[in-house]
Amino acid sequence: MRALRIIVCIKQVPHPDEAKVDPETGLVIRDGVPMVLNPNDYFAIEESLRLKETGGGEGVAMTMGPPAAEAVLREAISLGVDDGVLLCHRSFAGADTLATAYALARGIECLGGYDLVLTGSRSTDGETGQVGPQIAEFLGIPHAAELIRPVEVEGDHLLAWHQTDYGQELLQMPLPALLTVAKGMNEPRLPSLRGKMRAKKQAITVWGPEEIKADPDRIGLAGSPTRMLETTLPARKTRSKMLEGSLAEQVAALLHELADMLPGKAGGRP
Ligand SMILES: Cc1cc2nc3c(=O)[nH]c(=O)nc-3n(C[C@H](O)[C@H](O)[C@H](O)COP(=O)(O)OP(=O)(O)OC[C@H]3O[C@@H](n4cnc5c(N)ncnc54)[C@H](O)[C@@H]3O)c2cc1C
Repeated sequence: MRALRIIVCIKQVPHPDEAKVDPETGLVIRDGVPMVLNPNDYFAIEESLRLKETGGGEGVAMTMGPPAAEAVLREAISLGVDDGVLLCHRSFAGADTLATAYALARGIECLGGYDLVLTGSRSTDGETGQVGPQIAEFLGIPHAAELIRPVEVEGDHLLAWHQTDYGQELLQMPLPALLTVAKGMNEPRLPSLRGKMRAKKQAITVWGPEEIKADPDRIGLAGSPTRMLETTLPARKTRSKMLEGSLAEQVAALLHELADMLPGKAGGRP
């Protein structure tokens, strides 16, 4: 195992229980909704900390978002990440996944050297799962999505188990590389009191488009080829029926209803 410089990209999202979509604009409502660290990203942070504890090195958390997104960087620092970088400027607003990944890749390149980039596999709001692989493409490094077991580093290579549609694959990849981390691949730790104190005091680096030498035509709305025309929520198909009579009668009626739902029966699946 060798010392690695690890960049962990993390996102601030609306609390999953309170996320709502504006029916008029189709955009996620962020005002007045409690914001949290994307649940998937705890696993990416934990993997960076485990690698640092095993082989030494350094971890830097990076996020692109409004000034309030600084909170997720402080949370990452409270867990043990060394530094935080916030990409924050009005010209980053309205970014689709491509413009988001471009800005993050520029930020990573401006950090001056890295061995491994970790992201969550998907966010709970946009949930495209595109940002990690797109960052890797911009950086010109190999990537694997849905890491399901801890990474092993051997010299200039890593070994990563990842989930595919057909099963699990063990990949050997040269460093630097990017991995997106699946939910449940490790057990994220809780912050220590010392970590919380450090997170309160630590200075956060804030960069705008000039600091990351971004092409203005490739960030924010200007750099976003996709347009959200409409969003819909999945239709809820629930039926309810109150059963009456004694308990035995209700059980018999329930069995009758369930039998009717069997494939080929009226009310059942075709
Ligand atoms: C046309 C369009 C317009 C949009 N306009 C806006 C807008 O005005 N305001 C707005 O807030 N959003 C907007 N979005 C949503 C925005 O594009 C996504 O929030 C963002 O690109 C991330 O995509 P995702 O949530 O699908 O991430 P995923 O690809 O599902 O996330 C995977 C992982 O990538 C990393 N990651 C993702 N986003 C970030 C980030 N910002 N910083 C650091 N790491 C990250 C995290 O590790 C995360 O776990 C818009 C999207 C579209 C398509």
